[in-house]
Amino acid sequence: MKQNLIRNFAIIAHIDHGKSTLADRIMEQTQTISARESKAQLLDDMQVEQAHGITVKSRTVRNFYQADNGVEYEYNLIDTPGHVDFTYEVSKSLAASDGAILLVDATQGVQAQTVANLRLAQENHLTILPVINKIDNAAAEVDKTEREIRALSPKLYEAKIYRISAKTGKGVHEVLEAIHQVFPAPSGQTQAPLKALVFDSFYDSFKGVIAYIRIVNGNLKLGQQVKLMAANTAIQNKEIGVFTPSRTATDELTVGDVGYIITGLKDPTSLRVGDTLTDANQPTAEAFPGYKPAQPMVYAGFYPKDDAYRDLELAIEKLSLNDSSFQYVRETSEALGQGFRCSFLGIFHLQIIRERLKDEYGLNVLTTAPNVTYRVHLKDTNEVQIVNNPIAFPGFAKIDYVEEPFSNIRITTDNAVLGDVMKLADAHKGQLTDMGNQAELIVLHYRIPTAEIAYDFFNALKSISHGYATLETEFADYEPADVVKVEVAINYSVVDALSFIVHREDAPAMTQQLVKKLKHTIPRHLYPMPAQAIVEGKSIARVDIPPLRKNAAVNGEKRSISKKQALLRRQSMNKRQAEKSNIKLSQDVFDSILDIS
Ligand code: GDP
Ligand code: MG
Repeated sequence: MKQNLIRNFAIIAHIDHGKSTLADRIMEQTQTISARESKAQLLDDMQVEQAHGITVKSRTVRNFYQADNGVEYEYNLIDTPGHVDFTYEVSKSLAASDGAILLVDATQGVQAQTVANLRLAQENHLTILPVINKIDNAAAEVDKTEREIRALSPKLYEAKIYRISAKTGKGVHEVLEAIHQVFPAPSGQTQAPLKALVFDSFYDSFKGVIAYIRIVNGNLKLGQQVKLMAANTAIQNKEIGVFTPSRTATDELTVGDVGYIITGLKDPTSLRVGDTLTDANQPTAEAFPGYKPAQPMVYAGFYPKDDAYRDLELAIEKLSLNDSSFQYVRETSEALGQGFRCSFLGIFHLQIIRERLKDEYGLNVLTTAPNVTYRVHLKDTNEVQIVNNPIAFPGFAKIDYVEEPFSNIRITTDNAVLGDVMKLADAHKGQLTDMGNQAELIVLHYRIPTAEIAYDFFNALKSISHGYATLETEFADYEPADVVKVEVAINYSVVDALSFIVHREDAPAMTQQLVKKLKHTIPRHLYPMPAQAIVEGKSIARVDIPPLRKNAAVNGEKRSISKKQALLRRQSMNKRQAEKSNIKLSQDVFDSILDIS
């Protein structure tokens, strides 16, 4: 296809505003798939997922559109990952596009993700085509939605705004016409050395790592010697092709084309979105800027329930193959036995993996309280320990000082809940660095300790904003912090898996709350057991977990009760070693720690 006849674009929208439905209509109206196939296709993908335990995450597809002017255009619809945790990935998919359809549901109007995604698109200098969807719905408020869209940006103030029903197909033809009129053709140079952007990747158990690429300059021929610039690795060039929507091999990809390359790489972590693919012998002068290696921010232990250790290991192994940010190492806890220390991009990522383990593998896992990475500077030596497991946190006597990670976050929210959102950020030690308006929405920028957003922050934000505020996070840097390790002892014996790290100033209040919760979540025994929170060797909070009721009724005689209890307690002290494994730790116990963070 001639370069000037190619259009590369994405659809950006708030969740449920109709992105997938519009994508299906576009594929149908360009005869990429038949109406029957559009259903069958989705089904197939799911079966593939089930069969291989993989996610068919991208629906990037090449379409040929026969326009009203008689010209045939190549429309590459580039899918973007949907989740806020993956801002960087979203941004790279957008960088592979020249235009974006901004889709807004007329029954809901502009929402926080509309704003957040629009900003990413504008940062990538995309031409925006605004489209109002669901005009068939009785609850549609089309004019109001149009005003909200116009208020989003000066450029949209004048733009033609299309009105469609992705469901019935009404107005979709006009949008297809607008795509070649409004969006620019790719602007790269055919004669220049090969330069392609890796904007997504995929792991196939037979073929290894497959990269999704957009050719920006030059040509990519099958078998040509190529390399990844940021990773500095030569890769094989075994197969290249396009999405129709299934993978279809070709001999050549040229400027503006969007397609894939089978890299021959077996390790999914060796390829990163954002890298530059170029000719090994005649490389392009400059790689794409802003390449970021995977940076897991949150760690937690996964432990099998129901003795399903081997099943869990297999499932984790499979999931991690397709997700370079989800990695794991084996770990052992005295309290929980054998498990895995896993890394995540953030807490939502952790939740997604947990759900997938449950839905796709039927596995329930015990998740320990998540934590971030600390840089622990040791006394006397110049050694810096990177600690992402509280169990491994060095003893306080050895520590010179500790650094914790900070993030820059951006919250998009509506005005009505602004006060509550700011209170939330305050309570989590956020420092407001910038604040601005976007239509009727407010955008807040904070610098905040990553640990503060690693746990419950997102849920709290969603709950305050009735689900609508968005959170974008980005690692900033490390900063010295006065943090301490809290150990939890039950019946005088430290339960290693319950250890966690907090700011010293928060420790007293948090541990008071924690022991109160433990009173209800630790299973009772025949005798009373103390639960203590210990910081730097000192118990700073304590509660007694009452004994099982039935035991309290021995003969109804008070003295004998206490005698019996005292006896039981003495026995238990002698048996402390054995007692360790006796305390059944349920998810509730770990959630107690989450609840108070
Ligand atoms: P996505 O999350 O943006 O991909 O949204 P979907 O395409 O999955 O659509 C979300 C829901 O809205 C689905 O139940 C669709 O059937 C429905 N939907 C999408 N477009 C329209 C439309 O034009 N009219 C109506 N009434 N419903 C629609
Ligand atoms: Mg969808």
